[in-house]
Amino acid sequence: MGSIVLKKVSKVFGEAKVIPSIDLDINDGEFVVFVGPSGCGKSTLLRLIAGLEDVSGGQILIDGKDGTNLAPAERGLAMVFQSYALYPHMSVRKNIAFPLKMANMPQAEIDKKVAEAARVLNLTDYLERKPRQLSGGQRQRVAIGRAIVRQPAAFLFDEPLSNLDAALRVNMRLEISELHNQLKTTMIYVTHDQVEAMTMADKIVVLNRGNVEQVGSPLELYRNPQNLFVAGFIGSPK
Ligand code: ADP
Ligand code: MG
Repeated sequence: MGSIVLKKVSKVFGEAKVIPSIDLDINDGEFVVFVGPSGCGKSTLLRLIAGLEDVSGGQILIDGKDGTNLAPAERGLAMVFQSYALYPHMSVRKNIAFPLKMANMPQAEIDKKVAEAARVLNLTDYLERKPRQLSGGQRQRVAIGRAIVRQPAAFLFDEPLSNLDAALRVNMRLEISELHNQLKTTMIYVTHDQVEAMTMADKIVVLNRGNVEQVGSPLELYRNPQNLFVAGFIGSPK
């Protein structure tokens, strides 16, 4: 459950070769961070994995099976959007339950799953509130809750904390790491923030202009950056 392998994955938008060709192995249970400057292709790569964009070439294996042409809902992956993607008119309970309702799950089962997600995320006392009655951090937890109930093979996060203030960001970073420790589910986390990458990742993928510059643990990248780009980005001069 939860391994993702990219084989020569490419993406072209019109004339622009945004991702020339990427090979990448993500192991089950890993916390993988895609890091790189704005415009380097992080979101595009995540959207290709999620199935929100079609690849121009190459193959995506999910749990060893070819998922390249599967619809997003058939991939067993959950994209966690920024907290402002919540439905403002729905309660926390309804926001979290939404994907299960869409999948026509029986109500009793939905209630059970929502209660469990709320427990893990410390939202039990907030289930009847509307998003506007929550703090930024609580809203982000609701967005994560909406992903958890589907018990995905992997969670995909695209800069989920970028609209939170600095203090809250540090807090949520710890909460997401803690969630990974609890669930032990594969997580792919996109950020342009080196500190987030270094503190959260088992494995960092450094991207530059749609290419993988280096893959390694935070310590490996820090101690042995392969080139000046990685050294500059991770912050250790070579
Ligand atoms: P990042 O998330 O690292 O900031 P993106 O993946 O959003 O980068 O974008 C990578 C490049 O692809 C950028 O140059 C962007 O303008 C381009 N791009 C992304 N999506 C599209 C699209 N739908 N159509 C055309 N160009 C796109
Ligand atoms: Mg992006």
